[in-house]
Amino acid sequence: MRFGAYVRGADPDSQLRDVLDRFAPPLRPWTRCTACNGMLEPVAKNEVEHLLRPGTRRTYEVFARCRSCGKVYWRGAHGRRLATLVESARRVVDARSPVCTMRTR
Ligand SMILES: [Zn+2]
Repeated sequence: MRFGAYVRGADPDSQLRDVLDRFAPPLRPWTRCTACNGMLEPVAKNEVEHLLRPGTRRTYEVFARCRSCGKVYWRGAHGRRLATLVESARRVVDARSPVCTMRTR
């Protein structure tokens, strides 16, 4: 292993804050599949509606699909909570300057 870090915090929120505060990684929310980490791409509703439950089909219009495993995503009931989490993460990272330990010759 070339790099490693002990993540501090007893719960996921504290651990996320620790990683964001120490490493200030570039954030690209809503771009990766939570199941396989594949890239998400926009997909037309008519291409995925046969996979949706009736309530989802009636309620949502914007969808994304994982290029690797095909899992379909939409801003569902958790969307607002996740958006709040992403904005909070963005504020933490924006308040920090990126840690850069690389040297150039
Ligand atoms: Zn996937």
